[in-house]
Amino acid sequence: CGIVGYIGKRDVAPLLLEGLQRLEYRGYDSAGIAIHASGKTGGLKTAKAKGRVRELESRLPKRFAGTTGIAHTRWATHGAPNDENAHPHVDAEGKVAVVHNGIIDNAAELRAKLTADGVEFASETDTEVLAHLIGRSQAEKLEEKVREALRHIEGTYGIAVLHSDFADRIVVARNGSPVVLGIGEKEMFVSSDVAALVSHTRQVVTLDDGEMATLKADDYRTYTTEGSRTTSSPETVEYAA
Ligand code: GLU
Repeated sequence: CGIVGYIGKRDVAPLLLEGLQRLEYRGYDSAGIAIHASGKTGGLKTAKAKGRVRELESRLPKRFAGTTGIAHTRWATHGAPNDENAHPHVDAEGKVAVVHNGIIDNAAELRAKLTADGVEFASETDTEVLAHLIGRSQAEKLEEKVREALRHIEGTYGIAVLHSDFADRIVVARNGSPVVLGIGEKEMFVSSDVAALVSHTRQVVTLDDGEMATLKADDYRTYTTEGSRTTSSPETVEYAA
């Protein structure tokens, strides 16, 4: 239903919660957040909750510091609205976190295949298959892992992905569900809705269907799901709130 993401220098959790609040008008049943934890141990940390953004906020662990993260408000299509089915979804090793808007049409088939391979699912969502497919990919780069996973997917998606081995980036993709990049000064934003970006930047890049992007703090690039570069100069949005 709603996606926000940030990579830069600022403390990410408050930023993402504020972004989610700006998407509240769209309605949702649960919310969640995943960050690259700063500090020695690093790794991904997630928190999620059925209900409103305020509920999620009250569930954040005391130590939830980082400067890169993704967050989601969910409108359930596969599986009841509850804590387990809230996004982000993670792979078996806890290295991949995915937020997803849209519907994966062949989720049941993919889930059956993965289950036959020994994968244990933590939720009833269609989205979780993506986390496992990305986590199991043998490809070297995160972009290739995501691309490989998306090849199996039939349906619609706007996604944002974190991987603990690639803490310097967020990878996003769009097919039938909006993804907008917000270009800042040594910081980048992503959302499914420009309304969550405009308080931070008016420079936006709207992805086309079949397009992906890599966001780093000081750089972004866009390319097709087949891997060829696309050109995308930011547009300036005028926005009367
Ligand atoms: N199909 C996904 C789910 O049920 C995503 C729904 C959404 O767009 O929020 O979890």
